[in-house]
Amino acid sequence: MIYLDSAATTLQKPKSVSAAMLSALRTMASPGRGGHLPAQRAAQTAYACREAACALFGMDDSEQVVFTFNATHALNLAIRSLVKPGDTVLISGYEHNAVSRTLYAMPNVTVKVAHAPLFCPEETAGRFEELLTDEVAVVVCTHVSNVFGYILPIEDIARLCRERGVKLIVDAAQSAGCLPVSMERWGAAFVAMPGHKGLYGPQGTGLLLCANRVEPLMMGGTGSESRLQQMPDFLPDRLEAGTHNIPGIAGLLAGLRFVERVGVERIGSHETDLVDRMAEGLEEIKGVRVFAQNPGAGCQSGVLSFCVDGMDCEEVGQRLSGAGIAVRCGLHCAPLAHKSAGTLECGTVRASVSAFNTRQEIRAFIRAVAALKK
Ligand code: PLP
Repeated sequence: MIYLDSAATTLQKPKSVSAAMLSALRTMASPGRGGHLPAQRAAQTAYACREAACALFGMDDSEQVVFTFNATHALNLAIRSLVKPGDTVLISGYEHNAVSRTLYAMPNVTVKVAHAPLFCPEETAGRFEELLTDEVAVVVCTHVSNVFGYILPIEDIARLCRERGVKLIVDAAQSAGCLPVSMERWGAAFVAMPGHKGLYGPQGTGLLLCANRVEPLMMGGTGSESRLQQMPDFLPDRLEAGTHNIPGIAGLLAGLRFVERVGVERIGSHETDLVDRMAEGLEEIKGVRVFAQNPGAGCQSGVLSFCVDGMDCEEVGQRLSGAGIAVRCGLHCAPLAHKSAGTLECGTVRASVSAFNTRQEIRAFIRAVAALKK
């Protein structure tokens, strides 16, 4: 099978990930819940995982790294810590439902959307500049669109937020592991990410990087300050109630080490190379509409959307699946992105790559799409 759905979750993981998970299942207990060896091993693994994340994302203090179930959980924690009733929040026109549904569910919060056309970073930054008025309390912005692979001008947006003293939450779901992510350089209050996509950890893992005071969503045991009826006020304990997903954290640690070893830049340029080739090949097929940046523009990651004339995208997905190729079809939980790009009615077929895909697989994929038109 040719797996081109890594924007949902990476399927091919480094072998070290499953080995670490199996070893954790067999040898580790719950960190902070006992002084015995299995508990100590678990605590060391959790600590090493926070340290590895710190190193990869340019942070000094590993206690600011919080484990979550996924990126959605991390975004909920960040948004609910910063946004209060009566606030106005500015978001990009490419947000995932993990951001928009969370904001729209909050009482008395006004959401302004900086819609801008696809692959136009200057226009996107301009829209933020225009809409970032005094009443905006918080900006939430995705680094990369999960539908189109559009890399938003996050450096410019972060600079605007710093200049105007507005708190910034970055959704790094599609960039962590393949593009530089630096909370400190951006001056972000929070950066949220999954562990199971470009960091090659298992499903059920995510990270929230915190530079701001946080409010817990869940209360419970932390193994610390146990006499108190309130959650501890220090990180990471304040946000980590209950037993940790230690096999998941062990797998995520192995994934982070893989990314560190191969290098974010190398993974990113491999993925861009594959997507550029994909765009070039698909554009040659009559009746296929490809959403790709101008060659060399530097604003597209390893995700590409396309539509086939006269064919529903679900049908394209099914036929490709029959040919042994896994893609994703529809709105990809990001209706705002489709509104920005004008594809809300039809959706798109999305092909997304990882460090494990090859040029040969991309050629086979292009041939399979061409065969649909015959
Ligand atoms: N944000 C973006 C941009 C995403 O692409 C995704 C998942 O596809 C999410 C948030 C939610 O991630 P998770 O499924 O880990 O909660």
